[in-house]
Amino acid sequence: MDMPPERVKGKNYKCNECGERFNGIGRRPMCPSCQSEDVVEE
Ligand SMILES: [Zn+2]
Repeated sequence: MDMPPERVKGKNYKCNECGERFNGIGRRPMCPSCQSEDVVEE
C-alpha cells in the first residue's frame, strides 16, 4: 500500500455568474454550467 498523504480530490467552488456549485480541480477551475472563470472557493 503506497497511498499519497493528500487527497487528490478537488475543492468546492461556487460560480459567481450562475450560482452553480461544483468540484474544481486545478488552478483555474471553470464553471461547468456557464463556462465562467468567475468562481470562488467555498
Ligand atoms: Zn456558472
